[in-house]
Amino acid sequence: MADEPSAKCAHGACDCPPEKDSKYCSEYCREAEKSHVMEIGCGCEHDGCR
Ligand SMILES: [Zn+2]
Ligand SMILES: [Zn+2]
Repeated sequence: MADEPSAKCAHGACDCPPEKDSKYCSEYCREAEKSHVMEIGCGCEHDGCR
């Protein structure tokens, strides 16, 4: 019930929920956005995200 609507990782290819205090779910996504790599799939290795 306290879920934030549409809270997801800021990495475009990723649908994982972000970590606390971060826009991203993982270091992987943070680096991917920083290097401006357009990915077809996400490689953060979270379940349900590949
Ligand atoms: Zn992901
Ligand atoms: Zn992510």
